[in-house]
Amino acid sequence: MNFKFPIQTLNNLPTPYYYYDMDVLNATLDSVAKEAGSYGFKVHYAVKANANERILKAIKDKGFGADCVSGNEVKQALDCGYDSSGIVFAGVGKADWEINLGLDNDISCFNVESIPELEIIDELAGLKGKKARIALRINPNVNANTHHYITTGLEENKFGINQWDLEKVVECLSKLQNVELEGIHFHIGSQITDLLSFKDLCLRVNELQKWFISRHIFPKVVNVGGGLGIDYERPDENAIPDFTSFFQLFDEFLELLPGQELHFELGRSMVAQCGALMTKVLYIKSGVQTHFAIVDAGMSDLIRPALYQAYHKIENISSDLPNEKYDVVGPICESSDCFGKAVDLPQTKRGDLIAIRSAGAYGEVMANRYNLRDLPLAYYSDTI
Ligand SMILES: *Cc1c(COP(=O)(O)O)cnc(C)c1O
Repeated sequence: MNFKFPIQTLNNLPTPYYYYDMDVLNATLDSVAKEAGSYGFKVHYAVKANANERILKAIKDKGFGADCVSGNEVKQALDCGYDSSGIVFAGVGKADWEINLGLDNDISCFNVESIPELEIIDELAGLKGKKARIALRINPNVNANTHHYITTGLEENKFGINQWDLEKVVECLSKLQNVELEGIHFHIGSQITDLLSFKDLCLRVNELQKWFISRHIFPKVVNVGGGLGIDYERPDENAIPDFTSFFQLFDEFLELLPGQELHFELGRSMVAQCGALMTKVLYIKSGVQTHFAIVDAGMSDLIRPALYQAYHKIENISSDLPNEKYDVVGPICESSDCFGKAVDLPQTKRGDLIAIRSAGAYGEVMANRYNLRDLPLAYYSDTI
Protein backbone atom coordinates (compact mmCIF):
# COMPACT_ATOMS: atom_id res chain seq x y z
CA MET A 1 0.00 0.00 0.00
CA ASN A 2 1.76 3.11 -1.23
CA PHE A 3 1.07 6.74 -0.47
CA LYS A 4 0.02 8.38 -3.73
CA PHE A 5 0.45 11.99 -4.77
CA PRO A 6 -2.06 13.03 -7.46
CA ILE A 7 0.34 15.78 -8.39
CA GLN A 8 -1.89 17.75 -10.79
CA THR A 9 -4.63 18.14 -8.21
CA LEU A 10 -2.28 18.69 -5.30
CA ASN A 11 -0.47 21.46 -7.16
CA ASN A 12 -3.66 23.50 -7.37
CA LEU A 13 -4.49 23.48 -3.68
CA PRO A 14 -3.45 26.46 -1.53
CA THR A 15 -0.37 25.57 0.53
CA PRO A 16 0.47 24.70 3.21
CA TYR A 17 -2.05 21.92 3.85
CA TYR A 18 -2.29 18.44 5.31
CA TYR A 19 -2.94 15.71 2.80
CA TYR A 20 -4.35 12.38 3.91
CA ASP A 21 -4.18 9.24 1.80
CA MET A 22 -7.32 7.44 2.95
CA ASP A 23 -6.26 4.17 1.28
CA VAL A 24 -3.13 4.09 3.44
CA LEU A 25 -5.25 4.89 6.51
CA ASN A 26 -7.80 2.17 5.77
CA ALA A 27 -5.15 -0.45 4.99
CA THR A 28 -3.41 0.39 8.29
CA LEU A 29 -6.64 0.18 10.26
CA ASP A 30 -7.53 -3.14 8.62
CA SER A 31 -4.15 -4.49 9.64
CA VAL A 32 -4.59 -3.40 13.28
CA ALA A 33 -8.11 -4.83 13.38
CA LYS A 34 -7.01 -8.15 11.92
CA GLU A 35 -3.90 -8.63 14.08
CA ALA A 36 -5.46 -7.48 17.38
CA GLY A 37 -8.69 -9.28 16.55
CA SER A 38 -6.94 -12.59 16.05
CA TYR A 39 -6.14 -12.62 19.80
CA GLY A 40 -9.36 -10.95 20.93
CA PHE A 41 -7.44 -7.83 21.99
CA LYS A 42 -9.32 -4.53 22.01
CA VAL A 43 -7.86 -1.26 20.66
CA HIS A 44 -8.87 2.23 21.66
CA TYR A 45 -7.43 4.79 19.25
CA ALA A 46 -5.47 7.53 21.05
CA VAL A 47 -7.38 10.60 19.82
CA LYS A 48 -4.56 12.99 20.69
CA ALA A 49 -2.49 11.71 17.74
CA ASN A 50 -5.01 13.14 15.27
CA ALA A 51 -8.44 14.42 16.28
CA ASN A 52 -9.50 15.39 12.78
CA GLU A 53 -13.17 14.52 12.23
CA ARG A 54 -12.72 12.57 8.98
CA ILE A 55 -9.90 10.51 10.47
CA LEU A 56 -11.80 9.88 13.71
CA LYS A 57 -14.88 8.75 11.81
CA ALA A 58 -12.87 6.42 9.58
CA ILE A 59 -11.37 4.84 12.71
CA LYS A 60 -14.76 4.55 14.39
CA ASP A 61 -16.18 2.91 11.25
CA LYS A 62 -13.61 0.12 11.63
CA GLY A 63 -14.92 -0.60 15.11
CA PHE A 64 -12.20 0.89 17.32
CA GLY A 65 -12.86 2.68 20.60
CA ALA A 66 -11.36 6.04 21.64
CA ASP A 67 -8.72 6.85 24.23
CA CYS A 68 -9.12 10.49 25.26
CA VAL A 69 -6.90 12.75 27.35
CA SER A 70 -9.18 15.78 27.73
CA GLY A 71 -12.84 16.64 28.04
CA ASN A 72 -12.87 18.12 24.57
CA GLU A 73 -11.43 14.90 23.15
CA VAL A 74 -14.27 13.01 24.86
CA LYS A 75 -16.73 15.48 23.25
CA GLN A 76 -15.06 15.13 19.85
CA ALA A 77 -15.22 11.32 20.04
CA LEU A 78 -18.91 11.45 21.00
CA ASP A 79 -19.61 13.97 18.20
CA CYS A 80 -17.88 11.65 15.72
CA GLY A 81 -20.19 8.81 16.70
CA TYR A 82 -18.09 6.78 19.13
CA ASP A 83 -20.18 4.87 21.62
CA SER A 84 -19.57 5.99 25.19
CA SER A 85 -18.97 2.35 26.11
CA GLY A 86 -15.88 2.49 23.88
CA ILE A 87 -14.41 5.65 25.39
CA VAL A 88 -11.67 5.66 28.02
CA PHE A 89 -10.38 8.85 29.63
CA ALA A 90 -6.76 9.18 30.72
CA GLY A 91 -4.68 12.17 31.79
CA VAL A 92 -2.75 13.31 34.82
CA GLY A 93 -4.80 16.48 35.37
CA LYS A 94 -8.52 15.99 34.75
CA ALA A 95 -10.56 19.06 35.71
CA ASP A 96 -13.89 18.65 37.50
CA TRP A 97 -15.92 19.58 34.41
CA GLU A 98 -14.05 16.95 32.43
CA ILE A 99 -14.75 14.26 35.00
CA ASN A 100 -18.40 15.32 35.11
CA LEU A 101 -18.60 15.11 31.32
CA GLY A 102 -17.27 11.56 31.46
CA LEU A 103 -19.72 10.65 34.23
CA ASP A 104 -22.70 12.22 32.46
CA ASN A 105 -21.91 10.23 29.33
CA ASP A 106 -21.20 6.99 31.21
CA ILE A 107 -17.83 6.47 29.52
CA SER A 108 -16.34 3.05 29.96
CA CYS A 109 -13.38 3.92 32.18
CA PHE A 110 -11.37 6.67 33.86
CA ASN A 111 -7.66 5.91 33.96
CA VAL A 112 -6.67 7.34 37.32
CA GLU A 113 -3.19 8.62 38.12
CA SER A 114 -3.25 9.60 41.81
CA ILE A 115 -5.09 9.24 45.13
CA PRO A 116 -6.39 12.84 45.12
CA GLU A 117 -7.84 12.25 41.64
CA LEU A 118 -9.45 9.01 42.82
CA GLU A 119 -11.08 10.87 45.72
CA ILE A 120 -12.44 13.61 43.46
CA ILE A 121 -13.88 11.13 40.96
CA ASP A 122 -15.51 9.29 43.88
CA GLU A 123 -16.97 12.54 45.22
CA LEU A 124 -18.28 13.75 41.84
CA ALA A 125 -19.74 10.34 41.00
CA GLY A 126 -21.42 10.27 44.42
CA LEU A 127 -23.06 13.64 43.77
CA LYS A 128 -24.61 12.15 40.64
CA GLY A 129 -25.57 8.90 42.32
CA LYS A 130 -23.29 7.05 39.92
CA LYS A 131 -20.51 4.53 40.20
CA ALA A 132 -17.44 5.37 38.11
CA ARG A 133 -15.43 2.58 36.53
CA ILE A 134 -11.74 3.26 36.99
CA ALA A 135 -8.41 1.76 36.03
CA LEU A 136 -5.24 2.51 37.97
CA ARG A 137 -2.50 3.90 35.80
CA ILE A 138 0.61 2.36 37.25
CA ASN A 139 4.09 3.61 36.50
CA PRO A 140 5.91 0.38 35.62
CA ASN A 141 9.40 1.94 35.66
CA VAL A 142 10.16 0.51 32.23
CA ASN A 143 12.44 2.44 29.88
CA ALA A 144 10.91 3.00 26.46
CA ASN A 145 14.29 3.90 24.94
CA THR A 146 12.81 6.80 23.04
CA HIS A 147 13.16 10.60 23.16
CA HIS A 148 13.05 11.79 26.79
CA TYR A 149 10.12 14.12 26.05
CA ILE A 150 8.01 11.09 25.08
CA THR A 151 9.19 8.71 27.80
CA THR A 152 6.38 8.35 30.32
CA GLY A 153 6.92 5.13 32.26
CA LEU A 154 9.90 5.99 34.44
CA GLU A 155 9.74 6.87 38.13
CA GLU A 156 10.94 10.39 37.39
CA ASN A 157 8.00 11.04 35.01
CA LYS A 158 4.84 12.76 36.19
CA PHE A 159 2.59 9.99 34.93
CA GLY A 160 0.95 7.17 36.84
CA ILE A 161 1.03 5.77 40.34
CA ASN A 162 4.39 4.52 41.56
CA GLN A 163 4.57 1.02 42.90
CA TRP A 164 5.44 2.04 46.44
CA ASP A 165 2.15 3.97 46.59
CA LEU A 166 -0.01 1.07 45.39
CA GLU A 167 -0.68 -0.27 48.88
CA LYS A 168 -2.11 3.10 49.92
CA VAL A 169 -4.14 3.40 46.72
CA VAL A 170 -5.70 -0.03 47.13
CA GLU A 171 -6.55 0.75 50.74
CA CYS A 172 -8.12 4.04 49.68
CA LEU A 173 -10.10 2.26 46.94
CA SER A 174 -11.58 -0.17 49.41
CA LYS A 175 -13.08 2.75 51.35
CA LEU A 176 -14.59 4.61 48.41
CA GLN A 177 -18.21 3.82 47.58
CA ASN A 178 -18.63 5.45 44.18
CA VAL A 179 -15.73 4.04 42.19
CA GLU A 180 -15.14 0.50 41.11
CA LEU A 181 -11.88 -0.97 39.93
CA GLU A 182 -12.16 -2.12 36.34
CA GLY A 183 -8.54 -2.54 35.36
CA ILE A 184 -4.90 -1.65 35.51
CA HIS A 185 -3.34 0.68 32.97
CA PHE A 186 0.16 1.34 31.66
CA HIS A 187 1.69 3.55 28.99
CA ILE A 188 5.46 3.69 28.79
CA GLY A 189 6.03 6.22 26.02
CA SER A 190 5.80 6.88 22.33
CA GLN A 191 7.67 6.13 19.08
CA ILE A 192 9.02 2.92 20.57
CA THR A 193 10.85 0.96 17.91
CA ASP A 194 12.58 -1.62 20.08
CA LEU A 195 9.93 -4.22 20.84
CA LEU A 196 12.02 -5.41 23.79
CA SER A 197 10.69 -2.41 25.75
CA PHE A 198 7.23 -3.92 25.39
CA LYS A 199 8.54 -7.30 26.51
CA ASP A 200 9.91 -5.58 29.64
CA LEU A 201 6.47 -4.08 30.15
CA CYS A 202 4.80 -7.51 29.87
CA LEU A 203 7.12 -8.96 32.50
CA ARG A 204 6.45 -6.05 34.87
CA VAL A 205 2.70 -6.41 34.35
CA ASN A 206 2.94 -10.12 35.18
CA GLU A 207 4.68 -9.28 38.47
CA LEU A 208 2.14 -6.59 39.31
CA GLN A 209 -0.74 -8.93 38.55
CA LYS A 210 0.66 -11.32 41.17
CA TRP A 211 0.74 -8.45 43.65
CA PHE A 212 -2.95 -7.75 42.99
CA ILE A 213 -3.93 -11.42 43.15
CA SER A 214 -2.18 -11.76 46.51
CA ARG A 215 -4.56 -9.07 47.73
CA HIS A 216 -7.57 -10.80 46.19
CA ILE A 217 -7.98 -8.15 43.55
CA PHE A 218 -8.70 -9.37 40.02
CA PRO A 219 -8.75 -6.53 37.49
CA LYS A 220 -11.06 -7.32 34.56
CA VAL A 221 -8.94 -5.36 32.11
CA VAL A 222 -5.23 -4.95 31.53
CA ASN A 223 -4.58 -1.88 29.38
CA VAL A 224 -1.02 -1.62 28.10
CA GLY A 225 -1.38 1.77 26.36
CA GLY A 226 0.20 2.61 23.05
CA GLY A 227 3.60 3.73 21.87
CA LEU A 228 4.37 1.51 18.89
CA GLY A 229 6.76 3.45 16.67
CA ILE A 230 6.74 3.96 12.92
CA ASP A 231 9.47 4.16 10.28
CA TYR A 232 10.01 7.87 9.64
CA GLU A 233 12.99 7.10 7.37
CA ARG A 234 11.10 4.75 5.01
CA PRO A 235 7.44 5.77 4.90
CA ASP A 236 6.87 3.96 1.58
CA GLU A 237 8.70 0.71 2.29
CA ASN A 238 7.11 0.53 5.76
CA ALA A 239 3.80 2.29 5.30
CA ILE A 240 2.11 -0.15 7.66
CA PRO A 241 3.82 -0.82 11.01
CA ASP A 242 4.52 -4.40 12.03
CA PHE A 243 1.35 -4.98 14.03
CA THR A 244 1.81 -8.73 13.62
CA SER A 245 4.98 -8.84 15.76
CA PHE A 246 3.61 -6.25 18.17
CA PHE A 247 0.45 -8.12 19.16
CA GLN A 248 2.21 -11.47 18.97
CA LEU A 249 4.71 -10.28 21.58
CA PHE A 250 1.96 -9.43 24.05
CA ASP A 251 0.26 -12.74 23.35
CA GLU A 252 3.53 -14.52 24.06
CA PHE A 253 4.75 -12.68 27.15
CA LEU A 254 1.76 -11.21 28.95
CA GLU A 255 0.04 -13.68 31.27
CA LEU A 256 -3.64 -12.85 31.36
CA LEU A 257 -5.88 -14.25 34.07
CA PRO A 258 -8.86 -16.32 32.94
CA GLY A 259 -11.48 -14.05 31.39
CA GLN A 260 -9.24 -10.99 31.55
CA GLU A 261 -9.32 -8.58 28.57
CA LEU A 262 -6.20 -7.00 27.06
CA HIS A 263 -6.61 -3.46 25.79
CA PHE A 264 -4.32 -1.20 23.75
CA GLU A 265 -4.27 2.53 23.03
CA LEU A 266 -2.46 3.03 19.76
CA GLY A 267 -2.17 6.52 18.31
CA ARG A 268 0.81 7.27 16.11
CA SER A 269 1.10 3.84 14.53
CA MET A 270 -2.50 4.02 13.26
CA VAL A 271 -2.35 7.44 11.60
CA ALA A 272 1.20 8.72 11.07
CA GLN A 273 1.92 7.31 7.63
CA CYS A 274 -1.39 8.35 6.04
CA GLY A 275 -0.61 12.07 6.33
CA ALA A 276 1.80 14.50 4.69
CA LEU A 277 2.32 18.20 5.20
CA MET A 278 2.34 19.77 1.74
CA THR A 279 4.19 23.02 1.23
CA LYS A 280 5.59 25.10 -1.61
CA VAL A 281 9.05 26.55 -1.95
CA LEU A 282 9.01 30.32 -1.61
CA TYR A 283 12.69 31.11 -2.08
CA ILE A 284 16.03 29.45 -2.53
CA LYS A 285 18.71 31.24 -0.59
CA SER A 286 22.33 30.20 -0.86
CA GLY A 287 24.45 30.50 2.26
CA VAL A 288 28.16 29.94 2.61
CA GLN A 289 27.94 26.21 3.22
CA THR A 290 24.44 25.35 2.18
CA HIS A 291 21.38 26.18 0.16
CA PHE A 292 18.25 27.07 2.09
CA ALA A 293 14.92 26.02 0.65
CA ILE A 294 12.51 28.37 2.38
CA VAL A 295 9.04 26.86 2.33
CA ASP A 296 5.61 28.25 3.24
CA ALA A 297 4.96 25.72 6.03
CA GLY A 298 6.52 26.26 9.44
CA MET A 299 6.92 24.77 12.87
CA SER A 300 3.42 26.03 13.66
CA ASP A 301 2.06 23.46 11.17
CA LEU A 302 4.33 20.56 12.18
CA ILE A 303 6.17 21.11 15.43
CA ARG A 304 7.80 17.69 15.84
CA PRO A 305 11.20 18.59 14.34
CA ALA A 306 11.46 21.68 16.57
CA LEU A 307 10.04 20.02 19.70
CA TYR A 308 11.59 16.55 19.60
CA GLN A 309 14.43 16.95 17.07
CA ALA A 310 12.29 14.55 15.05
CA TYR A 311 13.20 13.38 11.57
CA HIS A 312 10.64 13.57 8.78
CA LYS A 313 11.38 12.46 5.24
CA ILE A 314 11.18 15.40 2.86
CA GLU A 315 10.46 15.00 -0.86
CA ASN A 316 10.29 17.40 -3.75
CA ILE A 317 7.50 15.94 -5.83
CA SER A 318 7.76 18.55 -8.62
CA SER A 319 11.35 18.00 -9.70
CA ASP A 320 13.39 15.07 -10.98
CA LEU A 321 16.65 16.95 -11.54
CA PRO A 322 19.90 15.69 -9.97
CA ASN A 323 20.13 15.96 -6.19
CA GLU A 324 21.61 18.81 -4.19
CA LYS A 325 21.67 19.44 -0.46
CA TYR A 326 19.24 21.85 1.15
CA ASP A 327 18.33 23.01 4.60
CA VAL A 328 14.55 23.03 4.44
CA VAL A 329 13.30 25.85 6.66
CA GLY A 330 10.02 27.62 7.40
CA PRO A 331 9.17 31.33 7.56
CA ILE A 332 8.76 31.56 11.34
CA CYS A 333 11.07 33.76 13.39
CA GLU A 334 12.80 30.94 15.29
CA SER A 335 16.00 29.16 14.38
CA SER A 336 14.36 25.87 15.33
CA ASP A 337 11.86 26.39 12.50
CA CYS A 338 13.73 23.89 10.36
CA PHE A 339 12.30 20.69 8.90
CA GLY A 340 15.61 19.14 7.91
CA LYS A 341 19.29 19.95 7.48
CA ALA A 342 21.40 18.94 4.46
CA VAL A 343 18.45 17.15 2.90
CA ASP A 344 19.08 15.54 -0.49
CA LEU A 345 16.50 16.97 -2.87
CA PRO A 346 16.33 17.17 -6.63
CA GLN A 347 17.41 20.65 -7.70
CA THR A 348 14.70 22.81 -6.22
CA LYS A 349 13.17 26.09 -7.32
CA ARG A 350 10.47 28.51 -6.24
CA GLY A 351 6.99 26.99 -6.60
CA ASP A 352 8.05 23.35 -6.25
CA LEU A 353 5.69 21.23 -4.18
CA ILE A 354 7.35 19.61 -1.16
CA ALA A 355 5.92 16.75 0.87
CA ILE A 356 6.94 16.36 4.50
CA ARG A 357 6.04 12.74 5.13
CA SER A 358 4.63 10.79 8.10
CA ALA A 359 2.81 13.86 9.39
CA GLY A 360 -0.50 12.12 10.12
CA ALA A 361 0.24 11.82 13.84
CA TYR A 362 1.04 14.77 16.13
CA GLY A 363 0.96 17.06 13.09
CA GLU A 364 -2.34 18.79 12.43
CA VAL A 365 -3.42 18.29 16.03
CA MET A 366 -0.42 20.22 17.37
CA ALA A 367 -0.78 23.11 14.93
CA ASN A 368 -0.86 26.55 16.46
CA ARG A 369 -1.14 30.15 15.33
CA TYR A 370 2.31 31.41 16.33
CA ASN A 371 3.21 34.51 14.27
CA LEU A 372 -0.59 34.76 13.74
CA ARG A 373 -0.38 32.32 10.89
CA ASP A 374 -3.58 30.75 9.57
CA LEU A 375 -4.18 27.11 10.45
CA PRO A 376 -3.72 24.94 7.34
CA LEU A 377 -6.69 23.09 5.82
CA ALA A 378 -6.81 19.33 5.35
CA TYR A 379 -7.58 17.46 2.13
CA TYR A 380 -8.35 13.78 1.63
CA SER A 381 -7.48 11.46 -1.25
CA ASP A 382 -11.08 10.28 -1.62
CA THR A 383 -12.69 13.72 -1.79
CA ILE A 384 -10.33 15.93 -3.78
C1 LIG B 1 -0.25 9.41 23.93
C2 LIG B 1 -0.89 8.26 24.60
C3 LIG B 1 -1.14 7.10 23.87
C4 LIG B 1 -0.78 6.93 22.42
O1 LIG B 1 0.58 6.92 22.19
P1 LIG B 1 1.16 6.62 20.72
O2 LIG B 1 2.61 6.66 20.90
O3 LIG B 1 0.65 7.68 19.82
O4 LIG B 1 0.66 5.26 20.32
C5 LIG B 1 -1.76 6.05 24.54
N1 LIG B 1 -2.11 6.14 25.84
C6 LIG B 1 -1.87 7.25 26.57
C7 LIG B 1 -2.29 7.29 27.99
C8 LIG B 1 -1.26 8.34 25.97
O5 LIG B 1 -1.01 9.44 26.70
